[in-house]
Amino acid sequence: MRAEPTTVFIRRAADGRYPTPPAHSIVCHIVGASRTSPLMTRQRRSHAKSREGCMQCKERHVKCNEVHPQCLNCKRHDLLCSFSAPSLTAMPLSQDSLADLELLDYWHRHPIPANASGPDSGLDYDVVRLGFSHHYLLNSILALAGLRLFEEDRSQTRWYVRAVAHHQAAITRARPHFQRLDESQHSALLSFSFYTSMYTLTEPLLRPASPSNSQSTFDPVKELLQAIWLGRSSTVFVQQHLASAVSSDPCVVGKYRLRPLEAINGLESTFPQLASLEQFIKDRCGGQERAMCLHAARSVFVSIAHLSNNPDEPTQMRAIWGWASTVDSAFLDMCAARNTVALVIFAHFAALISLGRGNWYLQNWPAVLLEHIRGILTDGLDDTIRWPEQVVFGNRLTLSSAT
Ligand SMILES: [Zn+2]
Ligand SMILES: [Zn+2]
Repeated sequence: MRAEPTTVFIRRAADGRYPTPPAHSIVCHIVGASRTSPLMTRQRRSHAKSREGCMQCKERHVKCNEVHPQCLNCKRHDLLCSFSAPSLTAMPLSQDSLADLELLDYWHRHPIPANASGPDSGLDYDVVRLGFSHHYLLNSILALAGLRLFEEDRSQTRWYVRAVAHHQAAITRARPHFQRLDESQHSALLSFSFYTSMYTLTEPLLRPASPSNSQSTFDPVKELLQAIWLGRSSTVFVQQHLASAVSSDPCVVGKYRLRPLEAINGLESTFPQLASLEQFIKDRCGGQERAMCLHAARSVFVSIAHLSNNPDEPTQMRAIWGWASTVDSAFLDMCAARNTVALVIFAHFAALISLGRGNWYLQNWPAVLLEHIRGILTDGLDDTIRWPEQVVFGNRLTLSSAT
């Protein structure tokens, strides 16, 4: 059954074995995944109340679907919805709204390609338009724009602060909609999930050092694993509840309609590094762990082979995200526990990421990850990650044996 590994994951996460900071818990946080009850049970509905309904629905004490500029109830009853008649008593341009206009302007000038055919597809503009009628989506877009602006000029911490605020607002606003799952919200919830997964992958490496959170305690393995766990739960949620909204966009399809990569003939002869990695695993692991690590290692090389043969965008998403979201969850546990063999394989995942060009939200991970793993590995194990280091730092895919 396809849902099997997921259930395991959600239970695992709820156990607190992977405590996730509130700002980053997307799906579990949103749907209020409880320790015992399955997702979205009825008694949890009372917590799903949204304060953002229109005035007309509030007065009539009915549930507002919060679609702007006219909600469903007002449309049905032909009422003037308060969403379409904003109050003009306040100054329309505050500092905050000016900042948001700047973010939106930035997004339009540098849309994050969500489509293999590039920004000309018009898709990004459609997403912004959808965001105007579904504000949590607009928040998630502005959060990403904030991170990008901050990355361009790290002295402008205001953009980081704004990004975090938008991300948190996005989650708070989306939560009730994830619990109700009205048809009218499906497309927006899907895009929200996509962009929010992107945010959680991007934010850790941009997070400014603070006295309580100095860079020396920053743990990229832990941070990336958390982003992977959240991305996995988001994928499962979309597959279970929003599958009908998955569009033909190759990136969205790549993340949410994962198909296994085709087997590669002669993998060992193309990548002799795989044989050395397999030997290393056999020397150090037994039983379940050995089988799991061998599988994780082989599949990371299958992904590397696919990516080096087809460097186009949809394959990138399928190969990189495919490995991260289908690798055995117990293998990720081994990485979290700093198991040496698992970390060496994880270093090869860094090589895989580095082969995906143009993934703005992933580009800084390989170097940071590899440097950290090298620091953890005990002496004498340098050889085990030499090849990924050549791929990442040498910026080339060495097909001959590394020894
Ligand atoms: Zn309403
Ligand atoms: Zn209304």
